[in-house]
Amino acid sequence: MNKESKIYVAGHKGMVGSAIVRKLEAEGYTNLVLRNSKELDLRNQQAVDTFFATEKPEYVFLAAAKVGGIQANNTYRADFIYENLMIEANVIHAAYQHKVQKLLFLGSSCIYPKLAPQPLKEESLLSGYLEPTNQPYAIAKIAGIELCDAYRRQYGCDFISAMPTNLYGPNDNYDLEKSHVLPALLRKFMTAVENGDESVTVWGRGTPLREFLHVDDMAAACLFLMQKVSATSMPANELAMWNVGLGSDISIADLAQLIGTITGFQGTIHFDATKPDGTPRKLMDVSKLKALGWQASISLEDGIRQVYNDLMINRPW
Ligand code: GDP
Repeated sequence: MNKESKIYVAGHKGMVGSAIVRKLEAEGYTNLVLRNSKELDLRNQQAVDTFFATEKPEYVFLAAAKVGGIQANNTYRADFIYENLMIEANVIHAAYQHKVQKLLFLGSSCIYPKLAPQPLKEESLLSGYLEPTNQPYAIAKIAGIELCDAYRRQYGCDFISAMPTNLYGPNDNYDLEKSHVLPALLRKFMTAVENGDESVTVWGRGTPLREFLHVDDMAAACLFLMQKVSATSMPANELAMWNVGLGSDISIADLAQLIGTITGFQGTIHFDATKPDGTPRKLMDVSKLKALGWQASISLEDGIRQVYNDLMINRPW
């Protein structure tokens, strides 16, 4: 990929896609092709095919997806599987048909079995039952990984996958019903401080462990993989897939404490055990990516402070 290569970032309005665009622009890539969901409905096969035939992108970052937190995944189960399957099938097939040189598909750590050994290694894929709350989304993401692998093995396409851990950063979703835990807690604690509330309610028991990566680190990893690896030069039986994470996790209770400290909250934290905990732990083993020479550079506390400072200036809710 050189600075003039034509690069399509699918999902550039989302948290991951926008971070990839920021990173590409910062690195001097000048030929980006971008379409928002109104301009191009990625669930529409004909529209996607026409777009690829017209624009002929050379490189594709497939960051478009329907995403959400534990409650959204559990409630809108049909939407999560249908929309993600359609987006992946349409984009990956069009990338093959229109001879894209390389494609990077963004998955998720929830593709791994609920009780897979921790930290989660790439080879745990498809080794057991999934976490039920996000199974439809996870199965769609597993289908995306398989699509990349199948097109690589049948047609020699250079299609690779990256599995991010839980991400946070600019352009996150702060809708309390649909968001992930980190943005939800930032909003809850900031609101409590402003209103002088004495308590904040955190869902579940606080015991689940989660790993959080700043999306700027994720974007850097995506660019690194796009430049560094080639699926076509790997043995057919080796999956062209890399976990991307911070390498350490934190309990939801400790995350709430940390966000409480950063936001200056001095009240008490309540846990609502009627809300689901989800999978007990989801820590990525990032040694495969580390062996290639990449690791995260933004600590959790620095990353949250950065987001908090941005929210003090501009609040999306
Ligand atoms: P998950 O990683 O797929 O389980 O998705 P989430 O980020 O939505 O939830 C992670 C954990 O945080 C779960 O155990 C939730 O119950 C817990 N949690 C605590 N408070 C909240 C909250 O306000 N919103 C969300 N989404 N999760 C919360």
